Amino acid sequence: MKLTFARRNARIVNFHGIGLPARELEPGEADYWVSLPRFRDILDRIVDHPDRALVSITFDDGNKSDLEIAAPELLRRGLDAEIFVLTGRLGQSGSLGVDDIGELLRLGMRIGSHGQSHSDWTSLSSRQLDVELVASRARLEEICGAPVRSAAIPFGRYNGAVLGALRKAGYDAVYSSDGGCVDRVSFPSPRTSVRHDMSDAALDKILSGQLQPMRLLRRNAAVAMKRWA
Ligand SMILES: [Zn+2]
Repeated sequence: MKLTFARRNARIVNFHGIGLPARELEPGEADYWVSLPRFRDILDRIVDHPDRALVSITFDDGNKSDLEIAAPELLRRGLDAEIFVLTGRLGQSGSLGVDDIGELLRLGMRIGSHGQSHSDWTSLSSRQLDVELVASRARLEEICGAPVRSAAIPFGRYNGAVLGALRKAGYDAVYSSDGGCVDRVSFPSPRTSVRHDMSDAALDKILSGQLQPMRLLRRNAAVAMKRWA
């Protein structure tokens, strides 16, 4: 199977919701909702950054704000994004619906799977994992009218069994939330999730692909543990 890796040294900035949530949030989720002014500021920083060509943008959870708030701001700046949708939330209040996905595709955004029920994939049986990885993707492919080959792992939680199931299901681009840059052998590809209280300095480090040596060591040890667990 051919695996499509994100570009080496790429920095992937991951967002969740923008503005005010229009649904009840999960515990801890509010930390990942970014205000509209801050979102605009971050996009401007990406556009102005010397390494702009190495930065890409993703969104997890399929919130309505992906279309209603984020997409126009991205387009205004000549940016695009890959949007990871939860099929179990399609059409629910505050979440994207089927027509919204069509609209995002028309606007030049890409669609990937975030599974169905926003569960921790490391805790599922192989049958449940099948629903998250295979059934949910089939639904998305039906909506998109095109193959869906990328997935973002909920909560960034994975282990060897999850990665094996993703490969077996035919996903060729898989994204975690491990932070840091993409290297040649990144499967999954690491992303950094933006928090509402992230400082400008922290953001600049992410865009520049810098990770403090101690953080890098800790991060690599954590990734190795997850991969082989
Ligand atoms: Zn998520």
